[in-house]
Amino acid sequence: EASVKARKTSHRVTAKGKNVPSHVNTFDELKKYSISSHLYANLVSSGYVEPTGIQSHCMPILLEERDLVAISPTGTGKTLAYLLPIFSLLSVPTSTLIASSSTSTGVRAVVVVPTRELAHQIHNECLKLAQGRKWKIVLFSKATANALSQKEARDKVDIIISTPLRLVAALQEGILDLSNVRHLVLDEADRLMDNEFMEQIQEILGSCRHKNLRKALFSATLPANAEKMAMDMLDDPIRIVVGLKDT
Ligand code: ADP
Ligand code: MG
Repeated sequence: EASVKARKTSHRVTAKGKNVPSHVNTFDELKKYSISSHLYANLVSSGYVEPTGIQSHCMPILLEERDLVAISPTGTGKTLAYLLPIFSLLSVPTSTLIASSSTSTGVRAVVVVPTRELAHQIHNECLKLAQGRKWKIVLFSKATANALSQKEARDKVDIIISTPLRLVAALQEGILDLSNVRHLVLDEADRLMDNEFMEQIQEILGSCRHKNLRKALFSATLPANAEKMAMDMLDDPIRIVVGLKDT
């Protein structure tokens, strides 16, 4: 059963950064960001009635295409906080775009997580928001990576969810190109900032070279040294902390 710990009134929220967009109290208030009625319908059918604290603060920031560090306890809905803005900003599946016109193609959003298990969970959340549209969402594995070795398959991908190791392997094999990525999320960023993954994270960052790349880091905790690294990766970032972290 889903447990949602952070209702908007029950946790202290601190926001730092330039021109922090106002938070919303309801999903309805996101209408000013032109969320499609289809996406709203998927929110409702997924049982999401009102935003959690981290969602009410982070969704406007991401919809305004700002870089973000977001810290909020486990179980507070960080996944939806970044997935809803990604779906909204991607607007329509690439496969639909390819059918209608010639446009730049290739993966547009990447979510990096430290474990396969987490990648699975995030993929499941994606599928809820993707209902009824031809989104191509890839849970990256050896098998799916191989399927992407054909450019035609690769060009239709909207969102990739992967561990660092798998993603870097595909980059090194030349079967993946991240130069069209507009949205990069590092989830469970405290673990990704660890020495174990740092080299891979740097390689992934270096491969996402679109000039409109937006980056967001989400975590339940972020030690000071990891936070400094995180801030160095981001452009004009906003930092949102929900709950206990801030002192
Ligand atoms: P976190 O990443 O912060 O640990 P998750 O994104 O895994 O949290 O979400 C925890 C649970 O809360 C999931 O089952 C998710 O479906 C549910 N959830 C997220 N947002 C909402 C919401 N606004 N209303 C109800 N349930 C939600
Ligand atoms: Mg999470």
